[in-house]
Amino acid sequence: MMNVPPESNAPEARGAQVCARCGAPFRCGKLAGDAVCWCAGLPALPVDRLRPGMSCLCPACLAAEIERIARSD
Ligand SMILES: [Zn+2]
Repeated sequence: MMNVPPESNAPEARGAQVCARCGAPFRCGKLAGDAVCWCAGLPALPVDRLRPGMSCLCPACLAAEIERIARSD
């Protein structure tokens, strides 16, 4: 019988996210309980770029997405 530990319940995994685009693990400050997440220092993505239930992107993908939007504008 498989015994997979519930990683999402582990204290050290608090705020642990997997990038929706590339699958890279990263830490979400908001979920981890930080006052300010690292993503707050980056320009926010336009609302029409976000989908309901969409999870965060890793720092690299978020920066790439912001750059892509800035270029296409
Ligand atoms: Zn990524």
